[in-house]
Amino acid sequence: MDNILEVRNLRKDFGDFSLRDISFSLEKGYIMGFIGPNGAGKSTTIKLIMNLIRRDAGEIKIFGLDNWKHELSVKERIGFVYDDSHYYEELTINEMKRIIARFYKQWNDKIFNKYLVEFGLRSDKKIKTLSKGMKMKFSIAVAISHNADLIIMDEPTSGLDPVFRNEILDILRDLLQDENKGVLFSTHITTDLDKVADYITFIHNGELIITGSKESIMENYGVVKGGRELLDRDVRKEFLGIRETGFGFEALTGNVDKVRKLFGRSVIIERPSLEEIMLYTVRGSSNA
Ligand code: ADP
Ligand code: MG
Repeated sequence: MDNILEVRNLRKDFGDFSLRDISFSLEKGYIMGFIGPNGAGKSTTIKLIMNLIRRDAGEIKIFGLDNWKHELSVKERIGFVYDDSHYYEELTINEMKRIIARFYKQWNDKIFNKYLVEFGLRSDKKIKTLSKGMKMKFSIAVAISHNADLIIMDEPTSGLDPVFRNEILDILRDLLQDENKGVLFSTHITTDLDKVADYITFIHNGELIITGSKESIMENYGVVKGGRELLDRDVRKEFLGIRETGFGFEALTGNVDKVRKLFGRSVIIERPSLEEIMLYTVRGSSNA
């Protein structure tokens, strides 16, 4: 297996919040959606991967190399999009680009200029005059203009309108035409991922809830609907979040086969969206 990113038992303790035993891996050629509600620990995980903060325990390998020991050579091959603008607002796009380009051996002006045109960005515009969406596009143009093999984006679509969001998703899909590249893309807007993600990693309260291919998640998870009389104590543990109504219940399961065996035809099982998986799980844990 050609993992371009491997995270093993990652831990970070902030006192009132801790990230615990996060493990997942991304093979080259794929897009991984990294999801979880606000405050789940997505940005913390990404900062640990980028070595912007120090991990307390665990392992992070990028292109098979430890991300501390090989920080420089690894970062050279990562295109990173932050969740907020970190540019000098007074500079123009072109001036800012010249500063950034120096950090990358494989910087390619031709590709960068091509994206500027495609994104409708003028190089003589000052950063401070750009809208949030424009800044995001500038960030993305930077991230994909130095032949990076791993693109990491922290909530690139949040706060953007649907048209911009779709454009960004198209760019990601185009990038993956090159099967040596991979993308890790965090978002709390799960509908973005229904279209583009091959793999999903879902964290909540600093803990790993699900990681796997979107296909296998969709096969194993289901929203179960049935009559309330079916819900005795024994079966409750099969569910990850139960919503009870006057007559019946709706609940999420991570094991559709087992639920089918238990209940047969007395329940309806529907394919969940990522949104439903997230909502049921989050609700389930807050009731616990
Ligand atoms: P997400 O990106 O999923 O919204 P974050 O990783 O930004 O979540 O934050 C997870 C939790 O960690 C939050 O409760 C946040 O307040 C806390 N946190 C993040 N950075 C720090 C820090 N440097 N010091 C203390 N707490 C932090
Ligand atoms: Mg965040």
